[in-house]
Formats: sequence, C-alpha cells, structure tokens
Amino acid sequence: MRILPAPPGTGLVFRRTDLDGFEVEAISRNVARVSYATSLMKKGVLISTTEHVLSAFVGMGIDNAIVELDNLELPILDGSAQPFVEMIQKAGIRSQRRPRKYLKIRRELEMREGNKFIAVYPADCYSVSYAINFPHPLIGKETLQVKLSNGSYLRNIAPARTFGSREDERAMRNMGLIRGAARENCIVLTRDGIENGPLRFSDEFVRHKILDLVGDLALLGKQILGNVVADRAGHALHTALVSRLLRDKSLWDEVTVSQDEAEDSDAISSQAAAGSFL
Ligand SMILES: [Zn+2]
Repeated sequence: MRILPAPPGTGLVFRRTDLDGFEVEAISRNVARVSYATSLMKKGVLISTTEHVLSAFVGMGIDNAIVELDNLELPILDGSAQPFVEMIQKAGIRSQRRPRKYLKIRRELEMREGNKFIAVYPADCYSVSYAINFPHPLIGKETLQVKLSNGSYLRNIAPARTFGSREDERAMRNMGLIRGAARENCIVLTRDGIENGPLRFSDEFVRHKILDLVGDLALLGKQILGNVVADRAGHALHTALVSRLLRDKSLWDEVTVSQDEAEDSDAISSQAAAGSFL
C-alpha cells in the first residue's frame, strides 16, 4: 500500500496497481458489501476493509489522496487507524488553496433497524456520540461522545483497535478476509476477558466503533457538519445513513467557509503528501 498526493477536487481514491491502475473512488455509489467490514466495488473490482484508512484521512482533515494497493484488501496492521495516521504524519500534509466544501446538516434524520439506531442532527461542527451494549463481561454498555477536532481524533479515536472473537475470525477467513491477521491485528475476546491485553483505553471498544463510523461517513465525499448519534449500529447502518443523506438533498446544505475563517479553523482543503507503507 502507498499513499500519493492528489490535486484539489480529487477526493479519496483507491487505485489497484495490480489491475492496470484501476481506480475506485471512496464514495457511496461504490459501496459493495458490508458486514464485518466495508467494501467498495466498481465494475467488478473490489477494495475491501476501507473504513480504517478513510477514518484516518477524515480525522486528520485530508480531502485529497490516492491510495495505491496491489491487492483487494487494505492491510489491517494493528486493527486501528494509528499506523495510517503515522504514515500520513511522516509524509506530511499540504494545504491547498481551495475552500473545503462541507455537508451541513439542516434537519434531523433518524434511522432505526430492530434495536439499532443511527441519526444525524444539525450542529456547527462534527461530533459523534456512540453507544454499544455488547454481551461480554469486559464491555457491556459503553457510551462516548467526541468532537472530532483540535486533535481529539488523534488522541482519543485513532489508536482504538478492532475487536472480535475467534469465531468472528474464522467467519472472516471463510469470507477471504484478514488473510494476514494474527494476534497483533485485533483485540481477541475470550469468554470472560481478552487474550492479548492490555487495552489501550478502558472503553477501547466504543472508541473503535466511532473510528469505524467516521471512516464509513467518509463515503459522503465531503466533511460533515452535524452531530451523529449511533446506538449499536454497524457498517450496514452507517452506510445506509450515508446513502439516505445523499439521496435527500433537503436534509443538508453544501457550504464553504470564507478564506479568513478557513485560515483560522484549518478548513481549507488538504492533501496527503507521498508516503508508503511496506
Ligand atoms: Zn473497524
């Protein structure tokens, strides 16, 4: 995998170097299959497990970048967004002289599916509130609200790792995913604890759910201004919210901020400079 800089207006794009550089844009229209991870597909070309790297881009305010891959699955690395964040920090970030476009929520949208819930409400910044209730002695109910600005993403969300049981792992391997996974790639839950502690945060699980949500909402193609509330949601509901929002243009306005505000608030478009991970 390699990250390349891209000009304003490019957005976040995956490029398969093993398939003549075929490009798959990280946008809602290309969402393919969503279960344990979010996958994109265009003309039969798959990009699997996109949420962690997309989360890192959004969390760091990167609007334009090309992610080259020589395979169909993003590397899982340590199961968090931290390795991607470090890769982007090492490469550097460049401001681009074009005001960033935001999708500003104008009225609320609530979606429910069984006991799962997701909603977005008008707000002047991007914040997320997530609740999980997972039947495991170490997890149970966890709730966290974060404002995704001023380094909060880097401190509180990026290092949170994915988690699962040995059964999940077997199911994912049967689907052809996590081919490279080992104990270093996620928190492995046992019946009453974890196999590979310690946790990075006592509520690392809900933090990872926020990481995933931010990555899935990247498929809006624009930074969002709104308060997202989720309760026991998952990739399917995250991406359903994205497509509902994009379908109903009465729910939001596309706004830019003035150049002065942009300089104050880091709101101008940014690209990742080149970086690679081997
Ligand atoms: Zn995840």
